[in-house]
Amino acid sequence: MRRLAGLVFGLFFLSSAYADNKTTLHDFRFWSSPDRTRIVIDVDPGVRFSINQKNSQFTLGIRNAKILKDTYKKLFFTDQRIKKTRIKRDGTTYQFKFKLHGQYQIKSYTLKPNDKYRYNRLVVDLYDQKNQAVKKAKIKTPTIQQRATKIILIDPGHGGEDPGAIGYKHSKEKRITLSIAKKLAKKINTTKGMKAILTRRGDYYVGLTKRIRIAQANKASLFVSIHADAVKSRRAHGASVYTLSDRGGSTKFARRLEASQNTADQFGVKQRLNNKDQYLNKILWDLSRKDRNTQSQKLGVKILEQLKKIGHLHKKTPQKAGFVVLKTPAIPSILVETAFISNPKEEERLNNNKEQDKIANAIYQGIINFYK
Ligand SMILES: [Zn+2]
Repeated sequence: MRRLAGLVFGLFFLSSAYADNKTTLHDFRFWSSPDRTRIVIDVDPGVRFSINQKNSQFTLGIRNAKILKDTYKKLFFTDQRIKKTRIKRDGTTYQFKFKLHGQYQIKSYTLKPNDKYRYNRLVVDLYDQKNQAVKKAKIKTPTIQQRATKIILIDPGHGGEDPGAIGYKHSKEKRITLSIAKKLAKKINTTKGMKAILTRRGDYYVGLTKRIRIAQANKASLFVSIHADAVKSRRAHGASVYTLSDRGGSTKFARRLEASQNTADQFGVKQRLNNKDQYLNKILWDLSRKDRNTQSQKLGVKILEQLKKIGHLHKKTPQKAGFVVLKTPAIPSILVETAFISNPKEEERLNNNKEQDKIANAIYQGIINFYK
């Protein structure tokens, strides 16, 4: 009898919890980049939230919420925009109060689960005010002397909320690409007449179209995007280089890869070029296409020659693909898949400091030979 009462009580509790429809906050992450702070909370579907901004504080209210212990600890964070975080609880309503260092533009939205994240995500972005960004851009305008320098744009693939491919032993592509990119940048910066600029310098996500805009704003002469490959089979190995094609991928493989790279923007706000941008791009595109394609091809060949010396090649000639990151008008642009992170042996190599240096050096030598 007692057992039955327990069962009845248990059922009642279960159903009332269900009727409450509490939102569990499963996890919390934040990413600080030079122009924004992104806060991501893993939530159950149908989360009810509000955002209030007042002077230098903003409050994120979540109704009917339940916070897991591990999540709770992570919530108290600070960065260059968040001065202090406090949590106020009123029954099941939580108010996260963020004290800010300045005034920011706040955008919030939810994202559905995908192959990397099993929960719905509530995203809050704090953007630096536009006029601050303009001021920064003005300072950057190159002088005549600087213009003689070749600006090499190095693009470490993925970052922040977008981990990229996950290796057999769980290494993340985003870490490897950043590490190789930084090594490559160092080599370039010690070369006379060359300067490297990275599209990202830390673990945060930069939208694909923004990566292109960074190249344009800095009047880059080359664009090199760095990635690590992944497929289902653990045996696939070797490096590949992709150049841009007018009509997207030339092979089935290139098309698949293209689809996975281009969907990366689902990790943040969907980035669609507005009409004006598209128009501008189209013109620049048509003007530069012919020359750029042969130049990119040449750059690809030079880099493959070097990569061949230090490891296997997955594809012996540059492949064609229509990645968004490669659509940089007027400058030779390539995407290097350094090795397969899905291959346990190559994953180990990609994580090895010396091997990363070899890869960076091969790309560097390829760039030098391209300019010879
Ligand atoms: Zn990638």
